[in-house]
Amino acid sequence: MLQTSPRVTSDALYRMAVPAGDYWLYRMESGQVLRITDLEGNQAADTLFFNADDTAERYSVTDTLRGQGNLFLTTASVLRSNEDRPMLTIVADTCGRHDTLGGACATESNTVRYDLEKRHMHACRDSWMLAVAEHPEYGLTRRDITHNINFFMNVPVTEQGDLTFADGISAPGKYVELEAHMNVLVLISNCPQLNNPCNGYHPTPVEVAVW
Ligand SMILES: [Zn+2]
Repeated sequence: MLQTSPRVTSDALYRMAVPAGDYWLYRMESGQVLRITDLEGNQAADTLFFNADDTAERYSVTDTLRGQGNLFLTTASVLRSNEDRPMLTIVADTCGRHDTLGGACATESNTVRYDLEKRHMHACRDSWMLAVAEHPEYGLTRRDITHNINFFMNVPVTEQGDLTFADGISAPGKYVELEAHMNVLVLISNCPQLNNPCNGYHPTPVEVAVW
């Protein structure tokens, strides 16, 4: 469901462009709102959420999908934790659909899906691992890299139940906003994938802003 936001970026507490292939790790306070903007269109922002006060609690695909009875995320979707508690709600969305089924790209999955020689290409899992290694203060380890959301990514489900990677439905300037219901650690990998159309074969920056 498309929903524009009343917030203006000139009032934001924080605003930053995340280059393609980089990560962004940030602690949001309960009640704050995060906007992720697809600056150039057809980019995928692979995102993990943790309870900032107890990172054993984190975003859960199964609890979220069961809670809303729908496979796709958009306005009014409540992102639920592995303790089945609401972590964040999508309060605005000008893209209309976000994937949470496809998972993130990894060097291992690149070799299975594409070619053995893709083994050394940069993947989202590498960016998350780098974030974990560079920020020991949060106590995260590789075991905390679990369910994620692919904002702006289009992964339709066929009648037979297959997942397909399709051309993006996003476009320059489309955004999604999430309001936090607890203190939340956000870890975005701005996807560097070059082998499928999730980012138009051309990774580009996204902008993050917090109110
Ligand atoms: Zn990726």
